[in-house]
Amino acid sequence: MATIHDSNVVIQPIHKVWHKGKVTSLDVLRLDLLHPIVSGNKWYKLRLNLNDALDNKYTTIATFGGAYSNHLVAAAYAAQHFGLQSVGIVRGLQNELTPTLMHCQQYGMKLLFVSREEYNKKDDPEWVNKQLLPFGKTYIIPEGGANTKGVLGAGLINRFIKSHYTHIALSVGTGTTLAGLRNALPAHQFIMGFVPMKQCNEQQAHITPFLREDRNINWQLFPETHFGGFGKINDELISFMNDFYVDNSIPLDVVYTSKMMYNIQKLLNDNYFNSSDKILCVHTGGLQGNLSVQDKLKF
Ligand SMILES: *Cc1c(COP(=O)(O)O)cnc(C)c1O
Repeated sequence: MATIHDSNVVIQPIHKVWHKGKVTSLDVLRLDLLHPIVSGNKWYKLRLNLNDALDNKYTTIATFGGAYSNHLVAAAYAAQHFGLQSVGIVRGLQNELTPTLMHCQQYGMKLLFVSREEYNKKDDPEWVNKQLLPFGKTYIIPEGGANTKGVLGAGLINRFIKSHYTHIALSVGTGTTLAGLRNALPAHQFIMGFVPMKQCNEQQAHITPFLREDRNINWQLFPETHFGGFGKINDELISFMNDFYVDNSIPLDVVYTSKMMYNIQKLLNDNYFNSSDKILCVHTGGLQGNLSVQDKLKF
């Protein structure tokens, strides 16, 4: 089994031909190299939660996600890594297991399928406790690892980020990773959050309460404008991913990082950046999600 270690992570410069010299440098923080299945940012969001579970003598953790959830499979892996049992409450009754859910089971996660209506009660402790009754005392981690420990853990990603970067770009789901990095990075670094959904009101509302007051500056969310919403793809996106791989030898995932890099390219073309800017794009991983479009990809 592949093991996770910070030393797997590298910073990879993008060829000048790609950014046409419109910025001084454009680098990618390859958190995807941490592990082939576990998304880099998920690992950081989970670490402090699992330490807390162990410190408080829990033997089982439980969390939530859909049938393709990067978080769920990362939680399964991380729990096993820390010697904990895991339970995954899965949104929607599934006829068959997706590759993601199969990986969850391989990492020892017990799956509990609930209807979409039931799943909406995932933040109601009474409902959650009832579901988890058969598993004994259980440490509960919210969907996406979106809690205070998740934010703090995500902040640990700052260890890879030098202060000379002017812009940090990353993909946003719940916004937990962005909140963690905004709290942990120097205020002069502008954080650009690319939301792969048409609206970002929910993320905006989620991020702000987690921010240290003195760091609630210099960040902005960019909504998805082109692909029709979360998880939606078209041929243009697939060609973009293939071209990006050919040009830079970096595989992007179809849900998050491809849309971030597509938007970065668009901003470069629109002369959004200054020529003195130094950009760091965080590759948060998610490559396990590409299995659904594998036949269309060149990598
Ligand atoms: C989950 C995920 C994100 C979003 O992280 P949040 O902390 O929820 O904003 C971004 N990229 C990838 C690849 C992910 O799996």
